[in-house]
Amino acid sequence: MIIFDNVTKKYRGMSAPALDRVSFTVDAGAICGVVGLSGAGKSTLIRCMTGLERVDAGSISIGGVNVSGLRGAQLRTAQRNLGVVFQHFNLLSQRTALQNVMFPLEIAGVAHGEACDRARELLDIVGLSDKVNSYPSKMSGGQQQRVGIARALATNPKVLLCDEFTSALDPINSKSILELIKSLNADLGVTVLIVTHQLSIAQQSCDRLIVIDEGQIVENGPAQTVLASPKSRILRAMVTTLTWS
Ligand code: ADP
Repeated sequence: MIIFDNVTKKYRGMSAPALDRVSFTVDAGAICGVVGLSGAGKSTLIRCMTGLERVDAGSISIGGVNVSGLRGAQLRTAQRNLGVVFQHFNLLSQRTALQNVMFPLEIAGVAHGEACDRARELLDIVGLSDKVNSYPSKMSGGQQQRVGIARALATNPKVLLCDEFTSALDPINSKSILELIKSLNADLGVTVLIVTHQLSIAQQSCDRLIVIDEGQIVENGPAQTVLASPKSRILRAMVTTLTWS
């Protein structure tokens, strides 16, 4: 479960806060989309969740742990509850797929043999058992993102945070990565937060939808309900970009 409770974050020198009293809850096992245009506050929300930025007020709880008050070793331990999937994959180019997935386990102090077995198992789950010894440069974007997802799941996190994770992929690979996320959610029970500027990505994958505009939440509810009757100016504009099937 993810709980944002009245989170405010204001950067020095900025007149308006990047996040303004943001409150929402994502139930365990849900797939929730956070959608907003450029400058809405999405990256700030992610950085506050991962501990890269500290909130000025309010709190963020992930899997029952209040991460917004933590620092140092306590923060690093709590971060194992949160797997992050990045837009540009962020794989280590000198490491094979297997070694990339093993990386967070090595940092967590997991024994080599155990880390290797876990990484193989995850690469199998994401459909890459034949790419275990491949380097990122020899893999397609879609395959690299599958490695990124396997790596994010390595420490068995309760929450998977997907940051614009399909933006660098073509529509076919994008759809297949979304299908993978849905099956991981169903099979592993991991809670998924998809942060994106593309409403279509949320439309295809999310059961809940939050829309953020100028640091404030302007929509929050079941995805179908929110999309069927947008209340905010921003979502009304974004809905016109969707194709319905
Ligand atoms: P998004 O990811 O939705 O594009 P951001 O979280 O990056 O939005 O930005 C939200 C607001 O905060 C914007 O007005 C942006 O200019 C401002 N902002 C983001 N990062 C910084 C920073 N490091 N210093 C000052 N202002 C920032």
